[in-house]
Amino acid sequence: MMSNYGFDKDDGFDADVIVVGSGSMESAAADRLSERGQKVLGFEQFHRGHDNGSYHGGSRIIRMSYFEHPDYVPLLRRAFELWDELEEDSQQRGWEQLVHYTGGLYAGLPVAPRLRDHESLRWSMGLTTNYFLPTTFALVFPTLR
Ligand SMILES: Cc1cc2nc3c(=O)[nH]c(=O)nc-3n(C[C@H](O)[C@H](O)[C@H](O)COP(=O)(O)OP(=O)(O)OC[C@H]3O[C@@H](n4cnc5c(N)ncnc54)[C@H](O)[C@@H]3O)c2cc1C
Repeated sequence: MMSNYGFDKDDGFDADVIVVGSGSMESAAADRLSERGQKVLGFEQFHRGHDNGSYHGGSRIIRMSYFEHPDYVPLLRRAFELWDELEEDSQQRGWEQLVHYTGGLYAGLPVAPRLRDHESLRWSMGLTTNYFLPTTFALVFPTLR
């Protein structure tokens, strides 16, 4: 295994935490730990920003509406705050900005289980939702008719 941060065993780097991998989860963990004053040493089997990881690609989606369970929503609110912080730190603006806020779209009959779950989530967590009847939907989203 190779250190990717310029340390080798002779440097005598005194780490509080060693993080193996520099993908999404490891980078986030290393960032948060370092934010809390921990000395973090990271190891990556490839070079930084390599294209062999799950994180590779031009875009990622995150959504607030997790009908799977309301417990996810506070975690997601925190995740959105951290994305905003990351964007602020990056100082990228316009189309280069890191985070683009859009709405999410769920389509189905009102009795569809997932839409019912979303409805109860909406009520319990105060998420903003708009409902469209089929006729209005066709006008608002003509490409999805
Ligand atoms: C095509 C695709 C699209 C996706 N879209 C989304 C999305 O829109 N939204 C979303 O939330 N999630 C999405 N995901 C999932 C998300 O990318 C992964 O959940 C996330 O990247 C996982 O993070 P990770 O750190 O566990 O793994 P990775 O990001 O893959 O990072 C693991 C790192 O550890 C390194 N490593 C592994 N073993 C060792 C070792 N022994 N020694 C040293 N280094 C090692 C690897 O080289 C790699 O760099 C998508 C995944 C894929 C594949």
